[in-house]
Amino acid sequence: MPVYEYKCHDCGIVFEARQKFSDAPLTACTACGGKVEKMISLGGFALKGGGWYQSGYSAGSAQPAACPSSAGGGCAGCPKAANE
Ligand SMILES: [Zn+2]
Repeated sequence: MPVYEYKCHDCGIVFEARQKFSDAPLTACTACGGKVEKMISLGGFALKGGGWYQSGYSAGSAQPAACPSSAGGGCAGCPKAANE
């Protein structure tokens, strides 16, 4: 069963709700009854085989290309600078 995250506009809390796909989204905060906004659930993405961490890695691997290692400085996260 997927887990959805909701954020309350009134009190600001974020809470999770396990719902079926067929269930209607929640509209009221469980704490104060205020209006809630449905958020993208990280857990739901991980269950679908994607995973937020994978997109994080790909973003990290793109970093060395932009690293000015040719200038002699490099950066702590640059593998080229570590080898030299
Ligand atoms: Zn609330």
